[in-house]
Amino acid sequence: MKQSQMLVHTLKENPADAEIKSHQLLVRAGYIRQIASGVYSFLPLGKRVLRKVEEIVREEMDKAGAHEMLMSALQPAELWQESGRWNTYGAELMRLRDRHEREFALGATHEEVITSLVRDSIKSYKRLPLMVYQIQNKFRDEKRPRFGLLRGREFLMKDAYSFNESFESLNESYEKMFTAYSNVFTRCGLDFRAVIADSGQMGGKDTHEFMVLSEVGEDVIAYSDTSDYAANVEMAPVINQSSPSDQEPANLEKVATPDQKTMQEVADFLGHSLAEGLKSIMFKVDDQFVLVVTRGDHEVNDIKLKNLYDADIVDLATEEDTHSLMGTGFGSLGPVNAPDSVDVIADFAVEPLVNVTCGANEAGFHYTNVNPGRDFHVKEYADLRFIKEGDPSPDGNGHIKFARGIEVGHVFKLGRFYAENMNATFLDDQGKSQTMVMGSYGIGVSRTLAAIVEQYNDERGITWPANIAPYQVHLLSLNPKKEEQKELADQLYEQLQAAGIEVLYDDRKERAGVKFADSDLFGIPIRITVGKRASEGVVEVKERTSGEQADLNQNEIIHHVQ
Ligand code: ATP
Ligand code: MG
Ligand code: MG
Ligand code: MG
Repeated sequence: MKQSQMLVHTLKENPADAEIKSHQLLVRAGYIRQIASGVYSFLPLGKRVLRKVEEIVREEMDKAGAHEMLMSALQPAELWQESGRWNTYGAELMRLRDRHEREFALGATHEEVITSLVRDSIKSYKRLPLMVYQIQNKFRDEKRPRFGLLRGREFLMKDAYSFNESFESLNESYEKMFTAYSNVFTRCGLDFRAVIADSGQMGGKDTHEFMVLSEVGEDVIAYSDTSDYAANVEMAPVINQSSPSDQEPANLEKVATPDQKTMQEVADFLGHSLAEGLKSIMFKVDDQFVLVVTRGDHEVNDIKLKNLYDADIVDLATEEDTHSLMGTGFGSLGPVNAPDSVDVIADFAVEPLVNVTCGANEAGFHYTNVNPGRDFHVKEYADLRFIKEGDPSPDGNGHIKFARGIEVGHVFKLGRFYAENMNATFLDDQGKSQTMVMGSYGIGVSRTLAAIVEQYNDERGITWPANIAPYQVHLLSLNPKKEEQKELADQLYEQLQAAGIEVLYDDRKERAGVKFADSDLFGIPIRITVGKRASEGVVEVKERTSGEQADLNQNEIIHHVQ
């Protein structure tokens, strides 16, 4: 392709709001442009790299046995009402009305749509397991869109879903996806770790996140210095993954260590935890269990309060909210009246099946039919207060270290949550009706792209791994006004294309300095410069990453770059 005819415009200065490398470089190099907060267009260079990442994802999904499809981004509210998430997903879900005042959402994720499709077409165990995926723009009205492609409000995701007849079968699908994810991120050249994760909005059970190690990551990972143990700090102390299931629910009373605490002590505990980033506590008031989970975010401290019997859930945005809540008692918890003291049952990590977050202004929202034991499992008592670097790893091997990570992928065992709510059943080999078991698996394709730039850059620009780069060769003709330069460059352009090499040809009438600077910014792995020695048929070949360069003869070029 000829650069003179490409929609691209490089910038000398970093955009004012771009705090991190990937955001700065992708904008400066003309790969992306912001259209609104958290909303980006991919210009031709950006689209090419996005397609490279997509293609890797696609190949690995196909290899895992998943079939590609494309679901509508526009989703009727009815489907989300069936699953229950119309009311629980909160402000992140972009909602709109059509001309007949019917409500819709722009797909933040597609569990509802795929479950409705599968329930209408799969009736027998003979058709299971089933794995499908799509690569599509997702919409989430993030509270704080930032860091360019890392946290957008419209972004490209690969989402996959498995439908299984049993938990054993789900485990097999999950393993396949887990392997596919490891392959994808390895092929993207990323330094990553798979970590035990929280289940977020998805109502997940067993779940892992794939984290790219990076200082700019918003998550904190606790990992063992000598073993494979790694967990999102939200879940760090959890040792045993409780098996996903309809099995014997954990008995709360069994793990409980009842302990009277004054409200002041509870408030202190939580206030303290905010400083450290994580805490959960469960107590009993008026025969109702209340679970409080604090989450650390380096900017926001979210607190979730759950009255598990009535499942009132409040998500408070700030530390002040916490204190005012603690100060004024539990008025916003609905049925629970402000007590002087509470019976603390335990502070531990739990694995919520139904994990609901609402904005503070939606406090008091009711989520019905949630029961402890059935809807969440106590994993293991662990004191989250004092986890710190150097502590013994929960798996008994080595010691805890912390690192920051960017969540690029997430695999979940969903269990029967959606299938039950949406009535996705099949007949088993005995002719009995059973509820399907599901898994869901997401990769942030555009986020992965930005994560690659975070790990591949230098002071002059991006340094793409060859398989991700938009082109393999950047061909520069330094002074196209000189006939012999233009001629040689034109010839090389033809030869490279004929050899099947992706080449971007800078045929612009610009100063050499401008061309070199743009080329470094773009990060194409090999630069071929046609300059002064064109009359001898000699050009300069330079590797972007290592800086190695050599003068080569025209007839050596193809062999050299292939
Ligand atoms: P996060 O914790 O960063 O908000 P998430 O847990 O909400 O992400 P999932 O629901 O697990 O995200 O979605 C699957 C994948 O989609 C994530 O692992 C991530 O790579 C990507 N993703 C999620 N939100 C965004 C976003 N706002 N911008 C870009 N990619 C995103
Ligand atoms: Mg999110
Ligand atoms: Mg997450
Ligand atoms: Mg996630």
